[in-house]
Amino acid sequence: MTILANKTDLVRAGSGTWQDQMKWAIRDLRGLRDVLGLADEGELQHAAEAEFPVFAPLPYLTRITPGDSQDPLLRQLWPSGSEMESPSHFSTDPLGESDATKSSGMLQKYQGRVLLVTTGACAIHCRYCFRRHFPYEQSPKSMAQWEPTLTQIAADDSIDEVILSGGDPLTIVDHSLSRLIARIDEMAHIKRIRFHTRLPIMIPQRVTDAFLEILANARCQMIVVIHANHANELDLSVEQALSKIANSGAMLLNQAVLLRGVNDSLESLKNLSQRLLRCRVLPYYLHQLDPVSGAAHFEVDVKQGLQLVTELRSCLPGYAVPRYVQELRGEPNKTVLA
Ligand SMILES: *Cc1c(COP(=O)(O)O)cnc(C)c1O
Ligand code: SF4
Repeated sequence: MTILANKTDLVRAGSGTWQDQMKWAIRDLRGLRDVLGLADEGELQHAAEAEFPVFAPLPYLTRITPGDSQDPLLRQLWPSGSEMESPSHFSTDPLGESDATKSSGMLQKYQGRVLLVTTGACAIHCRYCFRRHFPYEQSPKSMAQWEPTLTQIAADDSIDEVILSGGDPLTIVDHSLSRLIARIDEMAHIKRIRFHTRLPIMIPQRVTDAFLEILANARCQMIVVIHANHANELDLSVEQALSKIANSGAMLLNQAVLLRGVNDSLESLKNLSQRLLRCRVLPYYLHQLDPVSGAAHFEVDVKQGLQLVTELRSCLPGYAVPRYVQELRGEPNKTVLA
């Protein structure tokens, strides 16, 4: 663990409930600069912050080297002036998600599985996020508001998997989450419930006993897909939280995004896979960056990505190599590049 510039923050990072950690998260550039001892980068950076505010929980910040503006974890959450220059093929809805909205809060692009946008809240604001501009306010907020969508899922036996996404579904408190899961779990044709979440990494305290009970007691098979882009994200506290999830019987997978300056080297991708295995997580997808406006400076050429994955395959067992995929509009599945 590295040392935050401020000792009080370091003590806080290891204490409190996950809700405390959400409250204590750093929410502006000035706070980040203070905590990590970084310099002000000027007007364009402030403009980037104004477009998409900072959100950074303390447990994650303890894994960043203070004073290092190139730290691979920092880069994921540090506003950059480059966000203000957007090439024309980078858009606010790069995946055509507005066309895929089948019911309030529900996206379906692929056969057999639907994705619920359960909330707009996350435990980090990733600068490259493909849903940075998503109209979250249109998603349901309460069980009553979810009911029409849930009724539709209940009536459609072509669906066998429900994905809880967002935002981050684990920003929802356990008793609400438990009601939503129970309602889905009682639908006989649903076989699997999948979470897409970064919370166990951002705030390991989120892996509560109540959440573990939800995982352990469901009739459906439970799958937790985490999102780590770099081995440094997976410190001992995260390893312990993930181990509890694995012990609940849920399957653990990881999706990463290939990001310039974060994980665009063989060494970095190899370390990530090895660290994930150590945490009992299988690497699932390595995503080519979606062309969302504000994220162009993270883009790695597909050609370079292919080269990296080919090299990765030559030095790791097959199960440790993620599928390198790109999401292309209108395709029946994510397109496998390698
Ligand atoms: C990515 C995605 C999924 C999940 O795809 P898998 O290949 O099953 O992991 C499902 N629905 C939507 C809308 C998605 O974007
Ligand atoms: S956690 Fe996921 S949804 Fe939230 S900001 Fe990061 S990439 Fe976007």
